[in-house]
Amino acid sequence: MAQEQPALLGGEKAVKSDSPDVFIWPIVTDRHEQAVLDVLRARQMSGNEITKQFEQKYARMLGRKHGLAYPNGTSAILGAMYGLGIGVGDEVICPSITYWASIAQAYNLGATPVFADVDPETICIDPSDIEHRITPRTKAIVVVHYASMPADMDAIMKIAEAHNLKILEDCSHAHGALYKGKEVGTFGDAAAFSLMTGKALAVGEAGIFFTDERKVYERAILFGHYIRHDQITLDELKPFVGLPCGGYKHRMHQLSSAFGLVQLELYPEQMTEIDRAMNYFCDLLEDTAGLRPIRPDKGTGTTKGGWYYPHFRYVSEQLGGLSLSRFSKAIQAEGSICNPGCNKPLHLHPLFTEMDVYGHGRPTRIAHLDESATIDQYVQELPVAESIGRRVFEIPWFKHFDRETIEQHADAYKKVVKNHKELLAGDTEDDTDTGGYSSFFSSRDNTR
Ligand SMILES: *Cc1c(COP(=O)(O)O)cnc(C)c1O
Repeated sequence: MAQEQPALLGGEKAVKSDSPDVFIWPIVTDRHEQAVLDVLRARQMSGNEITKQFEQKYARMLGRKHGLAYPNGTSAILGAMYGLGIGVGDEVICPSITYWASIAQAYNLGATPVFADVDPETICIDPSDIEHRITPRTKAIVVVHYASMPADMDAIMKIAEAHNLKILEDCSHAHGALYKGKEVGTFGDAAAFSLMTGKALAVGEAGIFFTDERKVYERAILFGHYIRHDQITLDELKPFVGLPCGGYKHRMHQLSSAFGLVQLELYPEQMTEIDRAMNYFCDLLEDTAGLRPIRPDKGTGTTKGGWYYPHFRYVSEQLGGLSLSRFSKAIQAEGSICNPGCNKPLHLHPLFTEMDVYGHGRPTRIAHLDESATIDQYVQELPVAESIGRRVFEIPWFKHFDRETIEQHADAYKKVVKNHKELLAGDTEDDTDTGGYSSFFSSRDNTR
């Protein structure tokens, strides 16, 4: 068979089927529309009853005692941090590769983020890079199950127990994923989820966190859910009931709660189909030079849930040193999806290396530490995080098991790999600026 020319060099596209369906997300049904309309017609947008139903249903499904819903994941994480008692002068360890809202809220509470490196195989926090960063000020570790891959919870829980640290799971990328048979969001002292439209469990603009500890739950209610202060039972919190102690209003919009109640019912089945579709795509490319699917080993009980923001590793050396940027453009020219990199490393952003956000007269990062603290002590080099943009890329996120379409996308990848020598000829890219701080709005594919 004659070798087909890559589309980037003038050949025909590998992806011929036009099946936009396979990427449309979320799936909106008549049931969603009816549920939302009912709230709208009852003018219940600012109520709490439907939101409470949503919290209770989700908490039951996950097997946690308390769920508290928010207008977005960012505020859910802030509320959870306050609930856990993170405050002035505390250090919070977090992976550098994540969306900013895993950690930036620490500033609102006077706490100091401390970044750890990630494991290049999973893009999740590297447990071996945590312990040496623990100081007497360390209060918590934020664990992100990045790009739907569960983090190494056995190792992380061991460290947390040994040092008496709180664990806050950020599950915004991994709704429904299992780590060794146990669902993510059931490990941490608190576990927060973004439920915005682009996420695997998409509710609109919304977020939620879960905890089994009454005190964490009630502190978060006190902080930003003033209309629900009747739920506060702890004597230490009762004197402050009536006004939100954080000065925040954290009420979820009930059009989203109504939508979310329907989503909770439909998601498990959708997740199963996505898992089948994504594993099929990975299977087709499993032994392809230069590519390594990022997915759990089979038979371990670990899964990727709804496969939000799925990635592969890229091994340029196996493709003669072809740049990831050139590779991605070639895949895109075939009509498939391939975005180089992932989230950019947070630890290099000036918000965390120099900015004085609130006028303390020194960088906010160290604003609440004693006078001897310098920013240099907190500016790290994290080699994996700094090179991750050249090592991973985003693949298509199939929502349906559409065999033919998935095969065409896999063929696009195979064709580009086969022709990597021809592509090397015009390769002038250097991969120094791949990825971004937000994947959502920069995405080529406007359905996600
Ligand atoms: C999306 C996201 C958040 C924030 O959620 P919003 O609903 O957008 O506020 C937090 N952490 C991670 C890892 C996310 O991807």
